[in-house]
Amino acid sequence: MRIFERIGDEYEQVVFCHDRSSGLRAVIAVHSTTLGPALGGTRFFPYGSEDEAVEDVLRLARGMTYKAAAAGLDLGGGKAVIMGDPRTDKSEALLRAYARFVDSLGGRYITAEDVGTTQPDMDMIRRETEHVTGVSQSLGGSGDPSAATAYGVLHAMKAVAKSLWADAALAERHIVVSGVGKVGSALVRHLVEERARVTVSDVNADAVARVAKDFGADTAPPEKAHAVECDLFAPCAMGAVLNATTIPELRCAAVVGSANNQLGEPADADRMAEAGVVYAPDYVVNAGGVINIAEELHGYHRERAYGRVRRIYDTTMSVLQTASAEGMTTVDAADRLAERRIEALGRVRLIRTPGDLPSRR
Ligand code: NAD
Repeated sequence: MRIFERIGDEYEQVVFCHDRSSGLRAVIAVHSTTLGPALGGTRFFPYGSEDEAVEDVLRLARGMTYKAAAAGLDLGGGKAVIMGDPRTDKSEALLRAYARFVDSLGGRYITAEDVGTTQPDMDMIRRETEHVTGVSQSLGGSGDPSAATAYGVLHAMKAVAKSLWADAALAERHIVVSGVGKVGSALVRHLVEERARVTVSDVNADAVARVAKDFGADTAPPEKAHAVECDLFAPCAMGAVLNATTIPELRCAAVVGSANNQLGEPADADRMAEAGVVYAPDYVVNAGGVINIAEELHGYHRERAYGRVRRIYDTTMSVLQTASAEGMTTVDAADRLAERRIEALGRVRLIRTPGDLPSRR
């Protein structure tokens, strides 16, 4: 990979972190700080190559800029990857070496949990830097973000229901939840409380059995979940579930789920529109987790955080209305919402305040 060419004009900063004694090899990508510090998780993953790691961190950092902007947060987008197998390569020294690189950015980048990192890892990172969220409640953190993510998905579903059926209530609606891990199972609990009819599916048979028993949900085989006739389909497992093969098989009115990168490729947004299935863009729907951890930066307060998560209802509604009024896909409508906010507030920040001006000595 020609790294500087790939970075292009789009990224503000890409930092390569190397510490021979602990074996740390990491990359931190700051995509944008126009709206505020770049917040995004640290992924610890055994990448097949350095190119793969760089490509992943760049793509994920850009995604965080859009997610934060659309969610109305005063945050930019960034992400970090640590190359290695978290089961064998993670150590106190490695995490603390990594944390010192995060600290060296002086708050331009704020880290959090992601695939391969956990809350105890964030607590460890906190020992070297304050620029970390997702730490334990005892350290002033907000704990596991999955509950807030599920709560946000619920409110996105209500917005979609209101837009499709002129009624935000989910009672009697048939909803298929594919993937009943941390987010999916919390979502099922909300849906059952809303008196929706729920069908669940997962590759983990124990997880399906547990959720079906606890909540009286029906079940479907994982490879067929997307094709079940229902009102809403909620992908809460892996990415790329909506593609040229699965989209023609959908039998739902809308797709609203937590999974990241649900579309296999950009053209799938058009395929969804052509199939007449409403697609609530993933990064709008699943922003509850980041909205919740962002509250740690102001001193975490659960009521205030959940109040902000509920605004996903308004964001989803605004995206659906723009898409229909302008004849564009919901993905383009969401991207436009994010880009316009960055552009408008970027201009606002050109107004200098005393804090921006160099002090006269
Ligand atoms: P998780 O690992 O707790 O749960 C994922 C579940 O999906 C597991 O039960 C797994 O067995 C199941 N699964 C895996 N492959 C599957 C398949 N092909 N079909 C059906 N089920 C399958 O993860 P999670 O934290 O609940 O996150 C779920 C999704 O939401 C992920 O895509 C994640 O990136 C996204 N997300 C999560 C959060 C959060 O706060 N946890 C925030 C934003 C986005």
